[in-house]
Amino acid sequence: MEQGNGKQALLRALPGVDRVIASARQDAFFDPVPHTLLTQGVREVLSLLRQAILAGKEGLEAKDLAMETILARVRERVGRRLSPRLKRVVNGTGVVVHTNLGRSLLPENAVDNLVALGSGYSNLEFDLSKGVRGSRYAIVEALLCEISGGEAAMAVNNNAGAVLLCLETLARGKKVIVSRGELVEIGGSFRIPDVMTKSGAFLKEVGTTNRTHLFDYENAIEEQTALLLKVHRSNYSVVGFTASVSLKALVELGRTYHLPVMEDLGSGTFIDFSGYGLTKEPTVQESIASGADVVTFSGDKLLGGPQAGIIIGKREILEKIKKNPLTRALRIDKLTLAALESTLALYRDENRAVAAIPTLKMILAPFAEIEKRARRLQRMLKSLGSRRLRIVLMDLPSRVGGGALPLQDLPSKCLGIQVEGMSANAVERFMREEAETPVIGRIEADRFVLDPRTIQEKEMPLIKSVFSELLQRG
Ligand SMILES: *Cc1c(COP(=O)(O)O)cnc(C)c1O
Repeated sequence: MEQGNGKQALLRALPGVDRVIASARQDAFFDPVPHTLLTQGVREVLSLLRQAILAGKEGLEAKDLAMETILARVRERVGRRLSPRLKRVVNGTGVVVHTNLGRSLLPENAVDNLVALGSGYSNLEFDLSKGVRGSRYAIVEALLCEISGGEAAMAVNNNAGAVLLCLETLARGKKVIVSRGELVEIGGSFRIPDVMTKSGAFLKEVGTTNRTHLFDYENAIEEQTALLLKVHRSNYSVVGFTASVSLKALVELGRTYHLPVMEDLGSGTFIDFSGYGLTKEPTVQESIASGADVVTFSGDKLLGGPQAGIIIGKREILEKIKKNPLTRALRIDKLTLAALESTLALYRDENRAVAAIPTLKMILAPFAEIEKRARRLQRMLKSLGSRRLRIVLMDLPSRVGGGALPLQDLPSKCLGIQVEGMSANAVERFMREEAETPVIGRIEADRFVLDPRTIQEKEMPLIKSVFSELLQRG
């Protein structure tokens, strides 16, 4: 491009906003597009072109300023803005409880219930037997007590809310004793000391990072102490020279000093994973049986249900919590309750739970089954018939995620994909950003890696079509 004059000539060739809009209105694509959105898109495209001209961008020529080229760019921008921001993605990362990708997939019966209750009225707060106002908190209470052996229960918006609510109810203005080895940060800025501060309770740290003894708790008890708190370490592990106090021992200490004991289980599970050859995670039933006065955990981590914070414990304590005005601010909505009740119902029979709850199914999937799925996906992609596509099977671990079983490797068989003429990063970016339904994977050894453990059967044809699209684009 020539200097100076060339720029001026190109700037003159750039059409005005009104002319582009008028042309766009001839194009049926823009019929349903609101005027403001169209104007915005046109302004943005013209402004980008103007900047490119002024910056003397190489290779810019008159045909880049042609109306058809400009309209194509406007269509792309407007189209992107019209498509929903929240959309379905394929999780090929192998991280089962992936917080960034929405944690748990709901079981089928929960989805059905969600649809039924979302499109109709319900007895959310209406007692059908008495014909009077009822409590939404009562809906899952009996089920939670039946499964866990607890006396009383309720569900709120999420576990962070459950912890905040319990601390505020039981210890506001008072002290809560916690081991230094359990002052965790979960991610997404949930930190035990910060939640404590927000609840108005004062943190009394005891012990050391690696070792805390019962006498550490006992020596710290004073007039101002209101609660003994145990926190599941979730996403990390302390190994080597370590000591911690069991919930049972803490409960005995609490009894002696008439102090309630709370446990934040984090993930929370009704199923003993050690029975399936995985690392032991404490179960909710065990915490209740140990005599904890109140236990909290998430609905969408290992439980495999919707986002929720579940509180189970002694009747007297749950009564206080239910009366706390903060409960109203953290209340669970009807769609969540619908999905939660259906998910919980599956836990009445463990065999049904592990067969029907996707999170459990994916964690417990046998290696042979994953290998079979890997080969099937490999065959499907090969059937695209492109010599540019090179796929190898790789032995790589999947992860449970969600701050549960952090040291547990789940052996998996992954697809390592290379596309001739494209870097692994470029493939990864295309799959994430350009695909109509994004396919999220990871990069290992210069390959785009997909882990079949977290890929659903019905998503396989979709992955094939995304690759077909990628190969056509060049
Ligand atoms: C995940 C976690 C939380 C927060 O739970 P959300 O359901 O994400 O709000 C709180 N405490 C522990 C120990 C956790 O692992």
